[in-house]
Amino acid sequence: MAGLLAGILDLALPRECGGCDVPGTSWCARCDDELGRDPTSLRPRVDPGVPCWALGPYSGPRRGAVLALKERNRHDLARPLGVALAGAIRTLRVLGHIDPPELGRLVLVPAPTRDRAARSRGGDPVRRFASAAAESLWPETVSVPSVLRMGRGVRDSVGLGAAARAENVAGHIEFRGPSRRRWPPRENVGAVSAVSDPTVLLVDDVLTTGATASESVCVLAEFGIRVDGVVVIAAV
Ligand SMILES: [Zn+2]
Repeated sequence: MAGLLAGILDLALPRECGGCDVPGTSWCARCDDELGRDPTSLRPRVDPGVPCWALGPYSGPRRGAVLALKERNRHDLARPLGVALAGAIRTLRVLGHIDPPELGRLVLVPAPTRDRAARSRGGDPVRRFASAAAESLWPETVSVPSVLRMGRGVRDSVGLGAAARAENVAGHIEFRGPSRRRWPPRENVGAVSAVSDPTVLLVDDVLTTGATASESVCVLAEFGIRVDGVVVIAAV
């Protein structure tokens, strides 16, 4: 019985930091500091044509947390990642790169994940931390519509170069959202935001070449949705 209880507690409270594996805490203060640094501007090899930012390079706690959330089902890490993403959005607003909420309701569109991969991990990790970012921005109303889907025929892109990655996703990202007439999604739309253009950010965990972001921006544009920027946790 004691063993069972300990097992349940282990599941509820991971004993090591998701960013650096230090024992005794699920997320340590050092990783939190590192994740909370100002976002950096990116110039992806495949240019999505909109500004791109990362919380930092794909190393340290960013790499640790992204991998643990994706590969080890450490769903608890969606919160620190989401809080850091929300912090980056606040910073980008202060710096004038992203419109303040008064000028348009914020919409965070999760970049598409290969469905089978997401299912095997117990849900879409990008949507998880995007939702946590939206919660962290409360009382601002932020929507997180999962309107992009990676179609069949997309391979795992690990090991592919920029051109091969672009070719891999070209034509394979599908829009499955509401029609343009209903954009932005109507849930919780207030009187003010309903009449102003939303600020749309594409969010993803890792940006490698920019191929997925570029194709996503194109697909959204085809449906009349202008993306204002791309924000990712980490850039390779
Ligand atoms: Zn740590």
